[in-house]
Amino acid sequence: MKPVIALVGRPNVGKSTLFNRLTRSRDALVADLPGLTRDRHYGEGRVGERPFLVIDTGGFEPVAKEGIMHEMAKQTKQAVAEADVVIFIVDGRQGLTPHDKTITDFLRKTGRSVMLVVNKAEGMKYTTVTADFYELGMGDPYVISAAHGDGVTDLVEESLNIAFAQRPPEEEIPESKDRSVRLAIVGRPNVGKSTLVNTLLGEERVIAFDLPGTTRDSIEIPFEREGKLYTLIDTAGIRRRGKVFEAIEKFSVVKTLQSISEANVVLLLLDAQQDISEQDAHIAGFILESGRALVVGVNKWDGLTSDRRDEIKIDLERKLGFLSFAKTHFVSALKSSGIGPMMKSVDNAYAAAMSNLSTPKLTRALIEAVEHQQPRRKGSIRPKLRYAHQGGMNPPIVVIHGNALDSIDANYKRFLEKHFRETFSLVGTPLRIELRSGK
Ligand code: GDP
Ligand code: GDP
Repeated sequence: MKPVIALVGRPNVGKSTLFNRLTRSRDALVADLPGLTRDRHYGEGRVGERPFLVIDTGGFEPVAKEGIMHEMAKQTKQAVAEADVVIFIVDGRQGLTPHDKTITDFLRKTGRSVMLVVNKAEGMKYTTVTADFYELGMGDPYVISAAHGDGVTDLVEESLNIAFAQRPPEEEIPESKDRSVRLAIVGRPNVGKSTLVNTLLGEERVIAFDLPGTTRDSIEIPFEREGKLYTLIDTAGIRRRGKVFEAIEKFSVVKTLQSISEANVVLLLLDAQQDISEQDAHIAGFILESGRALVVGVNKWDGLTSDRRDEIKIDLERKLGFLSFAKTHFVSALKSSGIGPMMKSVDNAYAAAMSNLSTPKLTRALIEAVEHQQPRRKGSIRPKLRYAHQGGMNPPIVVIHGNALDSIDANYKRFLEKHFRETFSLVGTPLRIELRSGK
């Protein structure tokens, strides 16, 4: 599971600047799609080969009893509880404030690993910029400039080392040798995730509960359905009690992100009795960024008026139009209707995500695309697309080689994506295009 880093500190110390720097490289992978809204508090970053999740906790007022600051404090507490490492940021230009001390006291009580980080330190001497902060009793502070990037990579590497050092040794997780489809069911609270899990597991033979090797509170449940093997990944907000699944109260974005990243296919569940919310859109955005295959299930389809059904379809189109690569099913987890076809789409999405695309076929498709529509000239130079090969699976990555590919715009990239998608009938998986220019 990816380590989780939480950024904590009073307002204006540079948390969001650091957050943006840590997550920027990821963002570049995802084309800006119309309608896609990002949750700017949760992101994924990577140093070298090591991915991690990062949470920006926003401002923090631990003593507030009510109102917005109280809400934020609650969220910060949840973030800290879910983090492996807390990066506690203070402002090197402003020096120590009483507020910093309050936060220190709070963090100390949580017992988490905390790294004290002095930000805005560019152009300043270590001893000068840190002098104030020894009073916090946290030892030698780290020094960075979030705005300029100084010290940031070292900081993250160190925090990942701490995160890994304190994890229980990872037991051998029985890798999906059986080639089961790793499935995560995600959605906001009350959309019907637990009900769906019960329906799926109730009908069919559950192979085994509680495998060895489940770390932290992750749960993996292998099951079989119509002769096919699946592994249900720890579904955020669902906990087993006896053999019945119940929703736990607290919804966890972190657990949602973790289960998405451990899945091959994500089943995004929506509630047809409610309008599509910002939270739905954020979860959809996370799935898109993860590159996982996707099936959308609009649940609670039973007992709706036909007006309401039309309404929700329009809402879906308007707010989640960027998920059009995925199949949508209108189902009832409670009445167990529509589940079979939805699971068929899960299988198809998995197959699409795992497609083997040969270089000759990809190159032929590329040539067809270019014949159909040339990339735009930039000045006197026209980008030349020469050949394509597959650079990865789940999601399939098409690597295109050629010349002057830097000048290819997002529109043309989308056109290429659509062409490859149609040529290879890739339904239910995102497809990534990478451009590699020769000289
Ligand atoms: P947050 O409220 O903790 O998320 O803080 P922000 O990231 O919004 O930053 C607050 C202000 O500090 C902004 O004006 C940033 O441009 C500035 N800032 C952030 N990091 C640095 C830094 O490394 N050096 C300097 N000089 N300013 C910074
Ligand atoms: P979770 O929080 O996403 O796990 O949601 P639950 O599975 O706990 O379901 C929340 C509520 O929605 C419960 O009262 C369920 O009985 C109800 N519910 C779940 N699926 C359906 C459905 O298909 N139709 C209807 N009408 N209600 C449903």
